[in-house]
Amino acid sequence: DEYTILNKLGKGSFGTVYKVEQKKSNLFRAMKVISKEILTYQDDDQQFLKEIEILMKQDHINILKGYEYFEDNLNYYLITELITKGELYEYILNCDKIDEAQVRYIFKQLISVVSYLHKNQIIHRDLKPENILVDSVIDNNINIKVIDFGTCNFFKKGKNLNLQGGSPYYIAPE
Ligand code: ATP
Ligand code: MG
Repeated sequence: DEYTILNKLGKGSFGTVYKVEQKKSNLFRAMKVISKEILTYQDDDQQFLKEIEILMKQDHINILKGYEYFEDNLNYYLITELITKGELYEYILNCDKIDEAQVRYIFKQLISVVSYLHKNQIIHRDLKPENILVDSVIDNNINIKVIDFGTCNFFKKGKNLNLQGGSPYYIAPE
């Protein structure tokens, strides 16, 4: 009722992401449709999706901002800001070279995100170039947004989490 669904932006293991337009404001946003089946793949018996909770609460310039959500029996519908320049993965594939200063600039943002999350007792568990979007490129500096909090959770010091999560090519052997 409140958004017009435009085109598909991407698809992952649990969610499909669409470009949408908010009817009352004519603003473009992204909508991730997440099957409620994902709740059975978490490492605690959570009744509500951490991805929504965390994206709506967080306040960091390099983390995707969540605005609102809807739900029905099958899915959650998470409305977030729209990032238009694609995945860092594609960006790296398509450019001839990335120099050291550019990599350093990206990495600084990334560790700032990780530090912010860890200070707030949150682990992401699926950091990879497909889950990092290019927000803007200004004077050769690549500004990023970390997305996809589908495997994130809260941690407590001294308590292990046991979910076998992440993405095979990137996961740490341990
Ligand atoms: P995974 O398989 O990594 O678990 P997923 O199903 O959890 O993926 P996301 O990674 O959140 O889904 O989104 C899938 C893809 O959709 C992203 O890799 C990206 O290309 C695109 N996408 C997601 N959110 C946005 C956004 N806010 N703006 C633009 N594109 C987006
Ligand atoms: Mg993803």
